[in-house]
Amino acid sequence: MPKLNENYLKLKQNYLFADIRHRIDSYCESHPEEGKRLIRLGIGDVTLPLPEAVIKGLHEGVDAQANAATFRGYGPEQGYDETRHAIAAYYKKHGIDVDFEAVFVSDGAKSDTGNITDIFGNGNVILCPDPVYPVYVDTNTMCGRDVVYMNGTVDNGFLPMPDKSIHADLIYICSPNNPTGACYTREQLKEWVDYALENEAVILFDSAYEAFISDPELPRSIYEIEGARRCAIEFCSLSKTAGFTGTRLGYTIVPTELVFKASDGTEMSLNAMWARRQSTKFNGVSYIVQKGAEVVFSDAGIAACKENLDYYKRNAKVIADTMRECGVTFFGGINSPYIWFECPCGMESWEFFDHMLNTIQVVGTPGAGFGENGKNFFRLTSFGSYEKTVEAMERFRDMLARMK
Ligand SMILES: *Cc1c(COP(=O)(O)O)cnc(C)c1O
Repeated sequence: MPKLNENYLKLKQNYLFADIRHRIDSYCESHPEEGKRLIRLGIGDVTLPLPEAVIKGLHEGVDAQANAATFRGYGPEQGYDETRHAIAAYYKKHGIDVDFEAVFVSDGAKSDTGNITDIFGNGNVILCPDPVYPVYVDTNTMCGRDVVYMNGTVDNGFLPMPDKSIHADLIYICSPNNPTGACYTREQLKEWVDYALENEAVILFDSAYEAFISDPELPRSIYEIEGARRCAIEFCSLSKTAGFTGTRLGYTIVPTELVFKASDGTEMSLNAMWARRQSTKFNGVSYIVQKGAEVVFSDAGIAACKENLDYYKRNAKVIADTMRECGVTFFGGINSPYIWFECPCGMESWEFFDHMLNTIQVVGTPGAGFGENGKNFFRLTSFGSYEKTVEAMERFRDMLARMK
């Protein structure tokens, strides 16, 4: 009998979405008429189709595979040069220097934020925000590592700052944040970078929602901060930027400056380790998808994706405006597709979920699913249709008026 990785026993069962589905199903069964009015604003996935120009790029990739002269088999594990150059150029457009060698193309940011545990050892002090995207904690739990939580609260705007009295080795940061929509300022990220440099720590920065930032004062990449190339790895993805959640393409930046000493004094480069890890366990992203991604990073592609992003942002504004109007404490909604708000009347998030379902047939995501600090909060997303979002917010306003 094999010995099993019993760390899996320590994983918190994440019943969140199954639980939500179950509650919706049983409500619709007992209330078939009301069930027809259901509006889902809990969805954490994009809904608009890929832009025409991107589809054309994908088609070109398909056609190339149909022809012996242009056919591609295994490609470079870290991505085709064209894709890597396109990503470096995309950073450059925002005034950020990212070296070609630092760019690794992958099948998504979830895989990379999870797989990065492979290049770190045991015994690190790992900081992780609460509430947070569950992947960081679960992947550390799977390899037997505990994390230290940093509390996100109303007082810190769900943007925990470094506690200089404790030492850290690894720091997970997600900005703009899922689920809270909160976004660090340059000054705040500078504090994190300074803290990391002082502690010789590495920041694992998830910028999956960078494309939602409209405020030019807010940083879209950790590398906008001086010194970050010496202390940060950045994960990003076309999932939210370009609607690639089903098409799949992510990218991770591991600067060559990230060199640390092993216990015997040998210098180890994180860039070289990640290259070794990827070439051993990963065979690269489909050529077809990389052809589509190249278009995303072109000027025409960026403009086309922006139209979709603007559609979601308009929805986010409808929700945020409603919250403001109703005097609800909320975060996000401006530089993020998420609106994170305090449940009214001191309700807990599951109680409020049921209340919304029963009174106005609007579905969101209970904050409790993202950590202890989310238990009195609720997440709505802007990935629905504009008409449904407007209708949901009209009902929300009426519901609040009746609760007061
Ligand atoms: C959606 C999301 C990602 C992207 O994951 P992919 O695997 O690229 O689809 C990464 N991080 C966070 C926090 C997300 O919400």
